[in-house]
Amino acid sequence: MKQVCFKNANIVDVLEGRCFAGDALVEDGRIAAVGEVGPLPEGCRVVEMGGQYLAPGAFNCHTHITISSDADMGLIGGSDARLTLLAIQSLQGFLKAGVTFIRDVGGYSGIDILLRDEIRAGRVQGPDMLACGRCICITGGHSWTLCGLQADGAEEMRKATRDQLRAGADWIKVIATGGIMTKGVEPGAQQMDLEEMEAVVREAHKCGAKVCSHAQGASGIRDSVRAGIDSIEHGCYLDGETISRMVEQGTWFCPTLAASHFILYGDSPVKQPDYVIRKTKAVIDSHIRSFKDAYAAGVKICMGTDAGTPSNPPENSCSEYVLMVEKGGLTPLEALRIGTIESAKLCGVEESLGSITPGKRACFAVYRDDPLQTIATVTDNRMTIKDGEIVYRA
Ligand SMILES: [Zn+2]
Repeated sequence: MKQVCFKNANIVDVLEGRCFAGDALVEDGRIAAVGEVGPLPEGCRVVEMGGQYLAPGAFNCHTHITISSDADMGLIGGSDARLTLLAIQSLQGFLKAGVTFIRDVGGYSGIDILLRDEIRAGRVQGPDMLACGRCICITGGHSWTLCGLQADGAEEMRKATRDQLRAGADWIKVIATGGIMTKGVEPGAQQMDLEEMEAVVREAHKCGAKVCSHAQGASGIRDSVRAGIDSIEHGCYLDGETISRMVEQGTWFCPTLAASHFILYGDSPVKQPDYVIRKTKAVIDSHIRSFKDAYAAGVKICMGTDAGTPSNPPENSCSEYVLMVEKGGLTPLEALRIGTIESAKLCGVEESLGSITPGKRACFAVYRDDPLQTIATVTDNRMTIKDGEIVYRA
């Protein structure tokens, strides 16, 4: 048996909302004991933590590993070789940020699906992944210039969904409304119809797959929720009626506050087109208000950043924690829960991940300060541990 003890740590317990001094003993990648672990077994490796804070590895539930955050829109895409290299670099970026699980929601050429399987088999290093393959949009809809698979009407939606399921998608991603990064479409405008989304949901759910919806404008969000979609992405213009229905149906919300924040306040080396800046300025206040309203009403919320959008690389993933506190008014504990145990529930892995609990997999981030007191410490991850192995060290 392979044993390792992370000694003299402060353990961040997101379930109980406290930090306590102690050790974490890991056996074959699983947490065996936390706190007072007693005399160490013979041959146990010791990693001295020097009082640093051991937290559950973060989740990023809205990523695009085949989209580069520092390219201008004209440079997106390219050869599969280049995109695969970019994806592998993105995976390293997440590990650097202390992210040990991602849900990739739209990419090129099935690279996400292939890498998911390679990571699972232990042949490629990266966070664990759920993958969507290509996202499905209407003809000329948001993302058609990126990786969108264009389909129109219920019949074609069924076909497109089956196509992505055959390719190995865990989740199906649909584009319900316009968005910021595509020229000529508006975030507030609905694109996919109710019947089209119902067709996707029916096909996906038959196979046990789930559906997420890029939905920014109010009517597109409303019809996504009516169609039975499992998670709303971005949700910039949420209204009270839709929020109530989301609570009732248990629909998830992945706000991705980082996406609009970094377009306006990030340090991209590339100047973004005017339409990107104009649309972001138009949605940002409403976006934050939607997040606050949804949280206050009890909507289930997970953490995602839309990594791959301008100035918003995988390495920035944990900025979302800080934005939820500073812009969204949450306590650090509330934000940490969203990025760990709540996101684990969205991904269906809460039995094995999302908290530092004996029996769960040993996937951790390591911070210098107590994140329950100083949330900004999460943006300076010191070490990432996946299944008991150190996969990144600052
Ligand atoms: Zn996205």
